[in-house]
Amino acid sequence: MAGVKIKIRLLGTGTSQGTPVVGCHCAVCRSLDRHDKRLRASAFIETEHCAILIDSGPDLRQQLLDNQITKVDTILLTHEHKDHLGGMDDIRPLNFMAHKPMDIYGLGRVLNVVKKDYDYAFKSDPYPGAPEMQLHKVSDVPFMIKDIEIIPVRVKHFSLPILGYRIGNIAYITDASFIAEKELSKLNGLKVLIINALRIKEHYSHFNLAQALSIIEKLKPERAFLTHISHNMGCHADINSTLPKGVMLGFDGIVIET
Ligand SMILES: [Zn+2]
Ligand SMILES: [Zn+2]
Repeated sequence: MAGVKIKIRLLGTGTSQGTPVVGCHCAVCRSLDRHDKRLRASAFIETEHCAILIDSGPDLRQQLLDNQITKVDTILLTHEHKDHLGGMDDIRPLNFMAHKPMDIYGLGRVLNVVKKDYDYAFKSDPYPGAPEMQLHKVSDVPFMIKDIEIIPVRVKHFSLPILGYRIGNIAYITDASFIAEKELSKLNGLKVLIINALRIKEHYSHFNLAQALSIIEKLKPERAFLTHISHNMGCHADINSTLPKGVMLGFDGIVIET
């Protein structure tokens, strides 16, 4: 496991509205720098045998096209908010190409929302061409996807318990505002930590920059990348140059190899 090569690509690094924000004229939303254009948060993880998508937000179709992704074995869901789930209907071409349902992992509560939101896919006689999903309930217990162990990490998104995931030497944590010590201990010895940082000012349901940096300081991964970034963070170039060594703002399309 330790020797498995993992490649992670950030498909989206924006917060729930993305940047630019519709109707906003701030410097970030007007920026021409491609690093300031952020689709909704999502990541794609590849190993030799496995292709895993984390979350299926409303930009999924564009993300699959932009990154020329045609094969996904599994989707890991962090939680049910629409910026992480609203694009599930766009797995249909992946179903057609793979000739099989998509394996989807998440907390029981989250899978219940999937069944409610995409009810047409779960009828006994589903609408022809509806997305095909095979749901798998996740708890605290690590599980295998092909040859890769997935370790769920419980974090709090305000009062909502949600999941991050550790896969080998990398971990992806989004929408967290609190991580208990016991869960932090699952994140020791990381090569790469991807963690959410919304903006400079504090926020009730997401880590701000200082909080994300203090978690990084505690865990000391070799490298850390920030995601789920709001236009209130400031322009990528301005903020990125202020970050400690080994830490950078993620941006859409960045590929991180371990
Ligand atoms: Zn979110
Ligand atoms: Zn703006």
